[in-house]
Amino acid sequence: MGLVIDIPAIVANWKALAAKAPGAGAAAVVKADAYGLGAARVAPALYDAGTRDFFVALAGEGREIRPLLPDDARIFVLSGHMEGEDLAGLIPLLNSPEQFFRDRALRPGGAFGIQVDSGMNRLGFEPGEWAAVRAEALAAGPQLIMSHLACADEPDHPANAQQLAAFRAMTDGCGVPRSLAATGGILLGPDYHFDLVRPGIGLYGGEPFLDAQPVVTLALPVIQTREVRPGESVGYGYSWTAERPARIATLAAGYADGLARALAREGKLTLWAGEHAVPVVGRISMDLITADVTGLPFVPEALEILNARQGVDAVAALSGTIGYEILTSLGRRYARTYR
Ligand SMILES: *Cc1c(COP(=O)(O)O)cnc(C)c1O
Repeated sequence: MGLVIDIPAIVANWKALAAKAPGAGAAAVVKADAYGLGAARVAPALYDAGTRDFFVALAGEGREIRPLLPDDARIFVLSGHMEGEDLAGLIPLLNSPEQFFRDRALRPGGAFGIQVDSGMNRLGFEPGEWAAVRAEALAAGPQLIMSHLACADEPDHPANAQQLAAFRAMTDGCGVPRSLAATGGILLGPDYHFDLVRPGIGLYGGEPFLDAQPVVTLALPVIQTREVRPGESVGYGYSWTAERPARIATLAAGYADGLARALAREGKLTLWAGEHAVPVVGRISMDLITADVTGLPFVPEALEILNARQGVDAVAALSGTIGYEILTSLGRRYARTYR
């Protein structure tokens, strides 16, 4: 019952993605608390499996896992050196001339990396900025030069080759280890792998890594069941009305637990009791979901919303989002078990 997170499956996914980029090292992206699944559990397990390089979004996330990892683990901070940040034990990926000069003034000799913008226009040095600082930055000995692909989950998108060419133009001849590919980039093939790949979502069982082992099972406890007569309605707005005698189960989770109200908007959200599919009926409330369990030969103690049959991407599609958002929204209220 509750949220069960399969750490061996995360490790297996890391190994499978690393094996797809045999010429490169494989890092692990553990930002946003390892996509909501618990960086304090995920990062040490991946270290034990051989991961030495970790990426977080914010320095605060890095500070949380630093004490849990041995000294030879490198923790890269994607937001770089923001004003006032304590970066002890962390490696900022400097994103602009401003960040570079701030970092060198405040942390002379401190380990750093460089992020360049190869076209996504989100983070990183623009080509002109990089050209102006490049000699000085390289002289200071960066650990890594990286960039990020905007369309890697669409293999035929022309931006992939354009970003690859732009990244090469900015970094060829630098003599510094390079990194371009996240999960999608790994699947684009060896041209994109360089020295280090940075999988995130693929570790946690999400697309575009279709061979991923499922990582998350989420079973929602049933609080009570009731019989409703034809013509009776269920939930806010009376949006569902029974056309036949029905048994309704009320489950302890809702949009405050990351199960967005929009998931039920078209009446297509399904829960599972073993092999049996159970439709959600009525609206999703803040803390409660109602399901029509009339067809079940037994009264369930819990119903699953995420399992090997119904992964995060299938659920995400119902509310027009992506698996990343489902995972990172799961919230703190579930009973969590780590396998
Ligand atoms: C989030 C992120 C990743 C991981 O991306 P996935 O698509 O989850 O594999 C890698 N690099 C950067 C810069 C990121 O922001």
